[in-house]
Amino acid sequence: MPSTVYFAPVRSLKKRSMVTRVGALLERAGIKSAIEAGDLVAVKLHFGEQGNTGFVHPVFIRETVAKIKLHGGKPFLTDANTLYSGMRSNAVDHLQCAVQNGFSYATVDAPIVIADGIDGREAVDVRVDGEHFETVRIGSAAVHADAMVVVTHVKGHEATGFGGALKNVGMGLGCRSAKQRMHADFKPEVVAEKCTACARCVRWCPVHAIVLGPDRVAEIDYATCYGCGECVAACPSAAIGVQWKTTPEALQEKIVEHAKGALAGKDGKVVYLSFVTAVSPDCDCWSFSDAPIVGDIGVLASTDIVAIDRAAYDLVTQAVGLPGSRGEGMGAGQDKFTAVTGVDGTLAIDYARKMGLGTPEYDLVVVE
Ligand code: SF4
Ligand code: SF4
Repeated sequence: MPSTVYFAPVRSLKKRSMVTRVGALLERAGIKSAIEAGDLVAVKLHFGEQGNTGFVHPVFIRETVAKIKLHGGKPFLTDANTLYSGMRSNAVDHLQCAVQNGFSYATVDAPIVIADGIDGREAVDVRVDGEHFETVRIGSAAVHADAMVVVTHVKGHEATGFGGALKNVGMGLGCRSAKQRMHADFKPEVVAEKCTACARCVRWCPVHAIVLGPDRVAEIDYATCYGCGECVAACPSAAIGVQWKTTPEALQEKIVEHAKGALAGKDGKVVYLSFVTAVSPDCDCWSFSDAPIVGDIGVLASTDIVAIDRAAYDLVTQAVGLPGSRGEGMGAGQDKFTAVTGVDGTLAIDYARKMGLGTPEYDLVVVE
C-alpha cells in the first residue's frame, strides 16, 4: 500500500508564504497524532557548515517549533557531531556554527542540544540486526527524545549519491565513532598520471591524511584516512578515484542501519519535512554551496522516510538541469544525482525498504 507524501510546490498560485505552508504540511502529515503533551521532541536538522548556504532556513525551523509547541511538545534542535574537523566536530564549535548560521533561541524559539554531547561520546547502543551491524551507536539526545521531526535539505552527495532523509537521520544521528564505522569501507586512490600536484586535496583533507610525495604526487596515509570522500570532490583533475574494500552499496546500507537505530521505538512518532530547494550537487558539510542542479521544486512532508526520499529523488529526476550548473544539459527524466556524483543513491532507498523502514510506493498530494 502506498504512503502519502504531501507536496507544496514552490509556486503558490494563492500567493501563500512557504513558511505558512510548511506549517500546513506538518498538519497534513499528522504532527498532531505524533506528539503527546509533554513529549520531548527532537527537531533533527543540519545547521550547515561555516560558509555553506544550502541548509534549511531558520524561519522554517521556527514554524516547525511553533507547531510542536501548539500540540504540547517540548522541542529542541539537534544534530550529532561530525567526524571531520570542521566547525561541528564538538558541541562548542557546533553551537557556534549554528548561531552563526542563524539558529539560536532568539530566532527559532527552542534550545539546541547536540545529540552526542560535548565530544561525540554520549551515545547509546541500539539493536538493529542488520547485515553490517548488530547494534549501532546513536546520539543519546535523539534516542531519549519521545518524538522527532526530521527536517532535510535534499541534495547530492559525493560519497552516497543522494542526501535525503535517510542520510540525515542515519549518518546525521550516528555519534562520531558510528560515523567512522559507516565510512570505514570507503578508501580514495590517487591516479599518479593525472595528479598535477596542486595540493588542493592536501589542504581539504580534514584529518591531514594527504601529503605531496617526493615525486610530486599526492600520497594518502590510509591509517589516518577515514574515508570521508572530500578529497575526491576537491580534486580538479579527477585524479582521486574511489577504492571500495567491499561494495559500493556498503556505505548506504550502513547509513540505513543507523537510521533504523535512530528511529527505533518511535513508531508513529516521527514526521519528515524535506526541502527540495537549492539542490546542490554536494552535501552541506562543505564550506560552500555549488550552483543548484535544478530549479527550486518545493517542500515535502510524510511519516514514511522511504516514501519521502523516493518522492524527492523522483522530483529532481523529472526536473530539467539548470544551465550554468553541473546539471546543465540534463533533460527531464534523467537521473541527475547519479550523473553528477557517479553513485547510485537509490540503493539506500531499496535497502531501507528491505529493513522495514517504509515503502517507496507513494501518492503525491499537492498542498497549496
Ligand atoms: S577520504 Fe580523502 S579527504 Fe577524506 S580523510 Fe581520506 S584522504 Fe582525507
Ligand atoms: S587535488 Fe588532485 S591533482 Fe591536486 S594534488 Fe590532489 S590528487 Fe593531485
